[in-house]
Amino acid sequence: MKMDQLVSLCKRRGYLFQSSEIYGGLNGFWDYGPLGVELKRNVKEAWWRDMITAHDDLDTQPGAPGAYEMVGLDSTIIMHPQIWKCSGHYDLFHDYMVDCRESKKRYRHDQLRGRWVTAKGKTIFVTTQAEDEQDDIQRHALKFFNLRNKNAEQLQWDGDVVSLTSVDDLTQVLGPDAKELGTLTDPREFNLMFKTIVGALGNDDDAAFLRPETAQGIFVNFKNILDSTRVRVPFGIAQIGKSFRNEITPRNFTFRSREFEQMEIEFFCHPDSSREWYQYWRDRRFQWYLDLGLDRERLQLRDHDPDELSHYSTGTGDIEYAFPFLPAGEYGELEGVAHRGDFDLRSHMEGKLDPSTDPLEVELNEHGQPKWRGSGKDLTYRDDLSGEKYTPHVIEPSAGADRATLAFLCEAFTEDEAPDEKGKLQTRTVLRLHPRLAPIKAAIFPLVKKDGMPELAKQIYRALKPHFNVFYDEKGAVGRRYRRQDEAGTPYCITVDGQTVEDNTVTIRDRDSLEQSRVRLEDCVDEMRQKLT
Ligand code: ATP
Repeated sequence: MKMDQLVSLCKRRGYLFQSSEIYGGLNGFWDYGPLGVELKRNVKEAWWRDMITAHDDLDTQPGAPGAYEMVGLDSTIIMHPQIWKCSGHYDLFHDYMVDCRESKKRYRHDQLRGRWVTAKGKTIFVTTQAEDEQDDIQRHALKFFNLRNKNAEQLQWDGDVVSLTSVDDLTQVLGPDAKELGTLTDPREFNLMFKTIVGALGNDDDAAFLRPETAQGIFVNFKNILDSTRVRVPFGIAQIGKSFRNEITPRNFTFRSREFEQMEIEFFCHPDSSREWYQYWRDRRFQWYLDLGLDRERLQLRDHDPDELSHYSTGTGDIEYAFPFLPAGEYGELEGVAHRGDFDLRSHMEGKLDPSTDPLEVELNEHGQPKWRGSGKDLTYRDDLSGEKYTPHVIEPSAGADRATLAFLCEAFTEDEAPDEKGKLQTRTVLRLHPRLAPIKAAIFPLVKKDGMPELAKQIYRALKPHFNVFYDEKGAVGRRYRRQDEAGTPYCITVDGQTVEDNTVTIRDRDSLEQSRVRLEDCVDEMRQKLT
């Protein structure tokens, strides 16, 4: 599948629109249309239900070291600025970027990729941002050296395509949109948090930040939840909500946006069993994507190398998907599952911990006090049965609702052949979404707009609507109505035809197999319930 096919289907059928489109759009922001909003809601609802409301608190789940409880939370987007100082985001949450003096464009340092090449006695590093990396690099190099395509053999390549971060001397680098060498500046830090001012008379001292992750809202409510519920460690707190990151190069459709939604769990457990819980959550979350239809072949669980780990983490595994916009063999992160130790609770108790040295050491200012003061509140846990007091360890499965939605869309997009009304095979575009995720569960059609068929079809529609999101359509040829529903990912179409009037049965067409079965009109609701739940 080509990504632009999916992008155009999403626009055409009302899944996704560029934000502020009539004003020329705003880079890194996306709106979900009538079908998109249902799909994304279904993704979030599946997550909430599977992780929280339908979770069995009493029994040990397969693969888990014991039973555990799950509760939810909805915290604010703007929180006390000190939270971001103690979490490390204020000091550490940045990307490096380079500017091009010639094109005036800005790029993320680690995302520019290029290759060394020599021609006409000169060696340079040619960079690209294009998906077809090697082809683009070659085109760019030929232009730079003033060579024609037929002289491409004069380019002597050295090594593979690698990140710009491997290059020390930027004077030898040809920027992706530059004609001259050495126009890229040295990398500069750029904090990814959006800043705002709280209060009408506020000045810079009243600066606050839009949260770059939902997780911190959970940590700072840890004590509230312990005190107001009867949860005992091990337990998890879950939250779904918007997060904001001023990404330098938002791209790949919704994959890297500046406003997006996260689905995060902070799971609190005893330090002694934290490794087992970490294993459990990696596997549990991986399986969730498989259960909702992602193909095992395109999904991978990649453990971070020790040098890739965040300062506080003793283990992180990324659940990654082979998105079609990535080069073959490359995967993009859907979710990170991290073992965060007691870093977060301790930071919010004591102040910001110094990650560059011992993660357990508090970073001090020139007066010997913690650089960023914590809340000073006791965020330890006391086990009422054993009497033991400790700071729980945290396992964090952190997923992106938009990235998951995009992966399900990519996986679902299929082109196959189906017979039209005259029995002739035609290419059809179909979104094979899992029925739990499909925006519309069934479409109801009268074959023609007469002979009592619309009345019967509306009767079915009204019987189903309180239970499922169903859609009624009587306009145009029935074949075309089927195609529209295939593109919308609707798993079933129910059609009232001439036979219905005679024997009170309707056809149910299956989106994927194209098989049609007849059921009695009054069994429609039960039949759909069976198929969809
Ligand atoms: P990346 O390396 O791709 O920037 P990350 O490792 O910074 O991602 P986390 O901080 O672990 O991401 O955030 C958890 C999840 O939130 C990610 O796995 C992803 O699904 C989602 N996410 C993070 N940044 C974005 C973004 N800019 N747009 C959409 N989703 C995002």
